Amino acid sequence: MTYFALLGYPLTHSLSPLVHQAFAKSVGISLRYEKIETPLGQLKQALHDFRAKGGIGANITAPLKQEAFGLCDYLTQNALLAKAVNTLYWENEKLKGDNTDGEGLIRDLTINLALNLSNKRILILGAGGAVRGILFPLLSRSIQSLVIVNRTLLKAQSLAQQDPRLKAYTYEGLDQSQEHPFDIIINATSLSLEGMLPPLNTSWIKNAMVLDLAYDQQAKLFMQWAKSHGASATYDGLGMLVEQAALAFERWHHILPITAPVIHSLRQREDR
Ligand code: NDP
Repeated sequence: MTYFALLGYPLTHSLSPLVHQAFAKSVGISLRYEKIETPLGQLKQALHDFRAKGGIGANITAPLKQEAFGLCDYLTQNALLAKAVNTLYWENEKLKGDNTDGEGLIRDLTINLALNLSNKRILILGAGGAVRGILFPLLSRSIQSLVIVNRTLLKAQSLAQQDPRLKAYTYEGLDQSQEHPFDIIINATSLSLEGMLPPLNTSWIKNAMVLDLAYDQQAKLFMQWAKSHGASATYDGLGMLVEQAALAFERWHHILPITAPVIHSLRQREDR
């Protein structure tokens, strides 16, 4: 049976094994997909052990996406732009790194949520690992503007300097800017994982479509808060999670699984 894994730390709540098993069942493949908890600095050894046990491909999550980037022999364009890897596999014993996070988000926004991104003014909260993956795929969709707001300005600025269409602010700086209003606000901070809300001026939320990259119970507080401040619609990151997994599955098995039934069954599990 072919062997796949998710490496990162911690992995207790990850849904990736469920998602990949559901895809495998839907296309009639048998596979093993395990979580391998791997602290920062130990990815090279963990991948070596995984490969020795017959591993074929792996997903990489926080905090290892940049470490994975540094270990690959080949990188796709998306991984190069993100400087981070969330999907890898061996080709002729060479390690190839890809990043499917951004395309996963785009597929969720444009296919599942049926949004047209062209000419949209987008605000991203946060400048961490997830943002590195989503910036360039968003920029490639004829959007009007993309503003990054982050607690640590330097991190937002270092992302923004990669493309003249990107702008960076602190939360206070954004209030004094002329950037608003926004059509779409994406919470890509890790605050939802801690049950906390971002220090965003709530008046920027009114009439915006709001999406939290977190999912399950963790996204609920932010979504309720955004709704109560006039968001036109609120979504969580479950669709992105399933879509980025589908693209990884395609890299490994050369077949793109249908995602809607998997998203639907995960939502039912969430509602229980
Ligand atoms: P990182 O740790 O790399 O980045 C965290 C970000 O949150 C940073 O910009 C940080 O700001 C900001 N932040 C943290 N604490 C605070 C605070 N108290 N006030 C203001 N800002 C704060 O996390 P990731 O980018 O890996 O993940 C971000 C989110 O995206 C998580 O919820 C994660 O679960 C989700 N995610 C979802 C995916 C999906 O498929 N749905 C895929 C990947 C991630 P600073 O720079 O100042 O520290």
